[in-house]
Amino acid sequence: MDASSDSGPGPDQARQVSVLVHRADGPGEEQREAAAPDDPAPDDQEQGLVESAERHRLTTSIGLDLEGVSVFLELNAPYLGIMIFLFVCSHILLLLGFSALTAALRRLNRVARDGIAARSDRDGRTTRRLLLAAAAAALTGLPALALLLQPRSVESAMRGFWSCLLLVVCVDSALRVLLSSCKLGLAAMLRSEAPKARRRRSAALTFVEHAGALARSGAPLALWLRYLWASPSGTPVIASYLLLKTLEGRTRVRALAAAARQLLHSEHGSAPTPEEVAEAGSLCPICQEAPTAPTKLACGHIFCDACVSEWFERERSCPMCRAATGGARVKSCSDGRTSLAPMLF
Ligand SMILES: [Zn+2]
Ligand SMILES: [Zn+2]
Repeated sequence: MDASSDSGPGPDQARQVSVLVHRADGPGEEQREAAAPDDPAPDDQEQGLVESAERHRLTTSIGLDLEGVSVFLELNAPYLGIMIFLFVCSHILLLLGFSALTAALRRLNRVARDGIAARSDRDGRTTRRLLLAAAAAALTGLPALALLLQPRSVESAMRGFWSCLLLVVCVDSALRVLLSSCKLGLAAMLRSEAPKARRRRSAALTFVEHAGALARSGAPLALWLRYLWASPSGTPVIASYLLLKTLEGRTRVRALAAAARQLLHSEHGSAPTPEEVAEAGSLCPICQEAPTAPTKLACGHIFCDACVSEWFERERSCPMCRAATGGARVKSCSDGRTSLAPMLF
């Protein structure tokens, strides 16, 4: 910051400015010189000093030279604009593909969520809608994947980091659309409002989501390995990448195993005797009504099967005493939606 001046303020004014500069969080040598008493200055110069001291305070308080950043941006923004335009032009097909697949996935998620949440299925309309969406997703995802993985498009994507990243994102989007197709088909086939069937459907959807995530992590692995293999400093980077991928894979396999256990043992209680229900007060603590299809958890608390099933979609513990139910701890994905976040690496 340039705070120097040819002619400073008078002795009294100078003291005032000097105090201001000192308050402004440790001034540099230049400021001390600027506030020298033998340097008289007019009022506007004094004002300039105060302003620059204030600017110095603002700059140092957030540890960033805002003025410098703005000058940098001003100088480079037009060039950055040209580069971004160049990138968009040379990857227009992939960018359009990614946008279209993301839009399709949003729509599929909405159909899945509404179809699964629907309590009644008049004339099988919800089931038909789910099946249609599943077919549409398969007919979108498969051709998109075939186009993206053509040897020619893979070859051209391997020429640069950003094009490889974009191809990975697009392939992952196509895989997510296919995963959504599986979930929609499953939701259509397991459409039933019986609590046991709902529970099995939730566990099946969760299992498909975790299996899909494991399968999805394979596509970036293949593409990035191919890219890194061709790069000059490949070997150490490949080793680090494989190590991270192994750790990630282990977490995913564990989650999948937990989802499989949940699918195989979707029961979480036993049927209580009428005496046990009477002893518990003949009221379900969740809905405060006489329990329908009562279920007794290992801790002894009794609930309607439907009430406690709904609770278990969020948490695997007793709603009353929080005792663990012994069920697998796994992130539930029972609403049939598929993540919109792409897998980058
Ligand atoms: Zn209840
Ligand atoms: Zn309990």
